[in-house]
Amino acid sequence: MTTLTAVDFELEKKEILKRYKHLLRSIQSRTNQEDRKIIRKAFDLAVESHKDMRRKSGEPYIYHPLAVAQICADEIGLGATAIVCALLHDVVEDTEISIEDIKRLFGDKIAMIIDGLTKISGVFDNRSSLQAENFRKMLLTLSDDVRVILIKLADRLHNMRTLESMARDKQLKIASETLYLYAPLAHRLGLYAVKTELEDLGLKYTEPDTYQMIVDKLKNTEDVRKRFINRFTMPIKKALAEQGLEFEMKGRPKSIFSIWNKVTKKGVPFEEIYDIFAIRIIIDSKPENEKADCWKVYSMVTDFYKPSPERLRDWISTPRANGYESLHTTVMSPTGKWVEVQIRTRRMDDIAEKGYAAHWLYKEGSKNGSESNIESWLKRIREMIENSDGNALEFIDEFKLNLFSEEIFIFTPKGELKTLPAGSTALDFAYEVHSQIGNSCIGAKVNNKLVPLSYPLKSGDQIEIITSSKQRPKEDWLGYVVTAKAKGRIKNALKEEKRAMAEEGRAMLERKLNHMKLKPDGELFNRLAKNYKVQSVLDLFHDIAIGKIDLKTISEYVEERKETSTNRFLNLLRNPFSREKAAEREKFEDMVTSLRGKDSMLVIGENLQKIDYKLAPCCNPIPGDEVFGFITINEGIKIHKTNCPNAISLMSNYAYRIVKAKWIDKNSLSFLSALKVTGFDDVGIVNNITRIISNEQHLNMRSISFDSNDGIFEGNILVFVNSTEHLNSLIQKLKKVEGVKSVYRVDGTENA
Ligand code: MN
Repeated sequence: MTTLTAVDFELEKKEILKRYKHLLRSIQSRTNQEDRKIIRKAFDLAVESHKDMRRKSGEPYIYHPLAVAQICADEIGLGATAIVCALLHDVVEDTEISIEDIKRLFGDKIAMIIDGLTKISGVFDNRSSLQAENFRKMLLTLSDDVRVILIKLADRLHNMRTLESMARDKQLKIASETLYLYAPLAHRLGLYAVKTELEDLGLKYTEPDTYQMIVDKLKNTEDVRKRFINRFTMPIKKALAEQGLEFEMKGRPKSIFSIWNKVTKKGVPFEEIYDIFAIRIIIDSKPENEKADCWKVYSMVTDFYKPSPERLRDWISTPRANGYESLHTTVMSPTGKWVEVQIRTRRMDDIAEKGYAAHWLYKEGSKNGSESNIESWLKRIREMIENSDGNALEFIDEFKLNLFSEEIFIFTPKGELKTLPAGSTALDFAYEVHSQIGNSCIGAKVNNKLVPLSYPLKSGDQIEIITSSKQRPKEDWLGYVVTAKAKGRIKNALKEEKRAMAEEGRAMLERKLNHMKLKPDGELFNRLAKNYKVQSVLDLFHDIAIGKIDLKTISEYVEERKETSTNRFLNLLRNPFSREKAAEREKFEDMVTSLRGKDSMLVIGENLQKIDYKLAPCCNPIPGDEVFGFITINEGIKIHKTNCPNAISLMSNYAYRIVKAKWIDKNSLSFLSALKVTGFDDVGIVNNITRIISNEQHLNMRSISFDSNDGIFEGNILVFVNSTEHLNSLIQKLKKVEGVKSVYRVDGTENA
C-alpha cells in the first residue's frame, strides 16, 4: 500500500524561515545591516527559484542551500559574501537563473564565485572517472577565490550528511570522491573538524560493514574509556580550577576513519587502538596571556604525569603553515599508557576546528571588518598555493600531486578541462577530444595564437583545434604525438586509408586482368604479391593504387608467366597487338619506329603534342632525374627513373620498347612566378595554402612568407610553374581555400 503524505506547505514555510533566522543569528556579529540586506535578497531568490524542487529525501530543496550556508557560517567561519554564495550555489546550475542575472543582482564578485561553483560541479557530477582532472580543476579554481573551494566543501559535507537517501551507486561515487579529494583538501585548508567528518562519512558508505564494526566496538568500550579519562583528568581539573582558569576538557577517541586506517594499513588490532585518544584542554585566555597560560597548564599537567621529552610540540611559538596553534605533550598515565595532551586557547581551538578563517574573527576590530579579514586570509592561502616556496611544495605534496606531475592540464575554449601526459601536443589534444577532430586537424590556436599540429602544450593552455574536412592523417603524424590514444587512432586511420586505397587498387587490377581476359583470383593475387615481394595481397592492391606497382609491369609479368606455362599466349607476346585495332597498332609501331629510329632521344618538357607521355607513378621522376621512356600498349610512353625498381626487368625483357629520354633544360621549363595572397588570419589557411602548393606536381616553391596584422594576413609566394595554364589553375585552387580573400599574380619576383 502506498500512502501519499500530504505536504503541509504552511509548516514548511515556517520551518524554512526558522532555519533562515538561525543562520542570521549565527553570523550576527560578523555582519552589518548592508550584509543582512543582501543575504535576505539571496535567500529570497534561492527560495523562489528552488520553490518547485525537492531533495531525494523529499524535503524542500531550499533546506540544502540553507544548510550549506549554515556550515559556512558555523563550521568554516566565513562571512556575508560566502553566505550569499552558499545560498545561491545551486541556483545557476539547477534553475532558470543565469550567471548574468546573478551578476546584475549581486555584482561581479559573487557572480564569479557562483560561476566557479557551477563549473566545478559540472566537472564533478558528469565524469566520475576523471578524478585527477577534477582535482586539478579545483586547485586552479582555488586561485580565483578560495571561497569557491570552501563553499564546495560545505556543500559536500551537507551532501555527505544526507547521503542516506541516494541510490547505492551514487553513494559509492560521492563517498569515494570525498575520501580521495575533499577530505585531504579540508585537511590542508586546516578544516580539521570538516576533514574528520568527511572521512568518517566517506568510510561509512565505502566500507559500511567495517564502519559499523568500529562504531559498535567504540560503543562497547565507551564506558572503559570514560572512566579512564575521568580518572586521568580529575587532578588536572582540580588544579586548573584552583588557579582560577576557565577551561573545557575534551577526551575524544581517534576518529573512526583513522582507526580503520591503522587497522587496515598498519595491521594494528583494534584492541590496541580504541583507547588511544588525546585529552584536549581548552582555556579562555586574553590574547596577551595566551602563550604564558598554555605553558602554565603544561606545567600543571606534568606535575601529575611524567612527559616524554621527545614528544613535546610547541606550535604556539611556531604555528603550522595553515595556522594551527597548539601545545602538545605526551605523558605517562598511572596505568602505564601514553596519553597525548593538547593544550590551547579557545581561539586556537577555533582555528584548529574551523580552519584559518576563524583566526581572523579574533583579530582586533573584527566585529566590523571581518569580511576584509577573511579576504586577507583568502589572499594568504592563494599566495601559499601560487608561490613555489616550501609551503607550496608541501601543499602540492599533501595533495598527492606527484601522482599527476607527469600530466598537464589543458582547457577547451569553453573552459572544460582535459588531462594529458606531459609532452602532449596540439594533435594529441585533438585526438583526446575526438578521433574525427584529430583526423581532420590542421592546426590549433593556443591562447589565441596560431600553432602547428606538433606544438607542445603546457599546463593551463587554452586550446582551440582547427579542422578541415579535407585533412587526412599522415604517416609522420605518428612522430607528433605522445599519447597512446592518438597514436592508435592515427594508425587506425592510416590503416583505414590503406584499406580504402587497396580496394581501389584491387578494382584497378581486376579491370586490368579482365581486359587481358584473365580471371582475377586469389591464387594469381598471391603469385603477384610474391613476385613484387610485398607482404600481403592487401599490400599489393595498395601499392597498385598508389602507383608503386605499375599495372603495366603486371600485365608483362602475367604475359611472361603465361608464355612459359602454356603456348596460348606465345602469340600474344610475339605480337602483342593481335587483339588491338589496326590503327592503334599502326600508331604504336610508328611511335616505336620514330623513337627507336636513329638513336633518337625523347626530350621531356618540349611541347611535343603528338607524343603522349606520362610520368610513372612507381618512381615519380622529377626534372633532373636520369630517366628513360617505356612504350606501353595503351598508355603511350611512361617515363621511369633509370634506378626505378621496375626498370631492370623492363629493360631486360622489353628492350625494344625502351626509349632514351632526358629532361629539357630545367630553367627553360619552369619559370618563377610571384603570387600575393590575402585573407583572414587563421592557421588553417596557411596550412591549406602550403599543402595545395606542395601537392601540385612540377611545382617548386622558392619562398613563402606570411605577415599578419589584426586578423588579416598577407602571403607572398614564389613558385616555379611550367606554364601559365598551370599558374592559373593554381590561382583558382588557392582562391577556393576558405578564408582566402584574394590571390593574384604580381610582376616582381625579387623581393618576395
Ligand atoms: Mn549543492
